[in-house]
Amino acid sequence: MHCPFCRAPDTKVIDSRLVGEGEQVRRRRECVVCGERFTTFEGAELVTPRVIKSDGSREPFDDNKLRKSMMHALQKRPVSIEKIDHALTRIQRQLRATGEREVKSILIGELVMTELAKLDKVAYVRFASVYRDFQDVDAFNAEIEKLKQHESNP
Ligand SMILES: [Zn+2]
Repeated sequence: MHCPFCRAPDTKVIDSRLVGEGEQVRRRRECVVCGERFTTFEGAELVTPRVIKSDGSREPFDDNKLRKSMMHALQKRPVSIEKIDHALTRIQRQLRATGEREVKSILIGELVMTELAKLDKVAYVRFASVYRDFQDVDAFNAEIEKLKQHESNP
């Protein structure tokens, strides 16, 4: 990397060690031109991408919203919260692994379907049948809310 002091394009690593629990690498570098030393930290970027909704708008990834849509699908089904949490963690990990800064909400929907298919077939069918028509987790949630209101005051 470039030297921050003289902008020389070449610096050499004189020391390299893991820090924390090994999730970061600390490197001591020396500029081959001016001889200044500096330190860099390197770690994996663990950022969940933003979500591109079907209308083109963007919003931050919201794991509560995602949890809510999975809970709707899993209502009264024999699946533990622990399993749901693991599924949510896997979804988030896969989104981070894309390395993208933004992903379409449809991708999240597909990941949810993959997880539900493993957790509970009934929940999978519920989610898939509603979601496939909407192609958007938000639209799915809105429709479920409407159905619930309708049930409580017919
Ligand atoms: Zn330099």
